[in-house]
Amino acid sequence: MIYEDERFRQFDARCVFFDRNGGVSPKPFDSLNVSVSAGDSLENVKKNIEIIKSRLNVAEIAMLNQIHSDKIVEYKGTVTDADGFFTDKKGVFLSIKFADCCPVIFMDVKNKIIASVHSGWRGAYLKISQKILEKLYIFGSKSEDIIVTLGPHICQNCYEVKDDVASDFDEKFIKTKGNQKFLSLSESIIDSLLEKGLNIKNIYDMQICTYENEEFFSYRRNKLTGRNIGGVFLLDN
Ligand SMILES: [Zn+2]
Repeated sequence: MIYEDERFRQFDARCVFFDRNGGVSPKPFDSLNVSVSAGDSLENVKKNIEIIKSRLNVAEIAMLNQIHSDKIVEYKGTVTDADGFFTDKKGVFLSIKFADCCPVIFMDVKNKIIASVHSGWRGAYLKISQKILEKLYIFGSKSEDIIVTLGPHICQNCYEVKDDVASDFDEKFIKTKGNQKFLSLSESIIDSLLEKGLNIKNIYDMQICTYENEEFFSYRRNKLTGRNIGGVFLLDN
């Protein structure tokens, strides 16, 4: 199934997230897995990517070699070590692989620039989402023209973190239950966007928890599992 942020349609773009169904990979990667990192075969992953390509009717699926960094690149047609990329090219699905981490999607609706970010706690700590905004501002984007979507990711109730991780974040993003600490990825990401002038009205959190919703791959729930895919592209017309 596809989860879509319909706001992008009016700007000739689509922002979509696939759940784990509809692909060819066997257990435990069943079935629309897009990563070989956990042991699924390249052949299966390639088939799944072809399925995604034809369902979206895009020319190209762009991917990153995600490394939990704050590195951002302009997409140039090759796979790079980074966790954020942007383009103004049409028909290129700027995709993020995720299984609890948060895919964050951006569009400057006036200049028609799109961007995608992969943010787990490291990305949130490094404020990679904020760094994408800064990049867009350099290109002349205005904060009021930028819309942002937080795709499916692990929610705070399910996201227990170690003390050293919790202490990296402002306490307003941490909930404590006894000895346990829980991080709100979405709140820390949204806060970093507001810091750089984004209007809260332009930010949409899909509020789908990958850990609770078994239609999605979840690393925390299953350890050995696949990766979901989501992202954004500019329509070709
Ligand atoms: Zn949850």
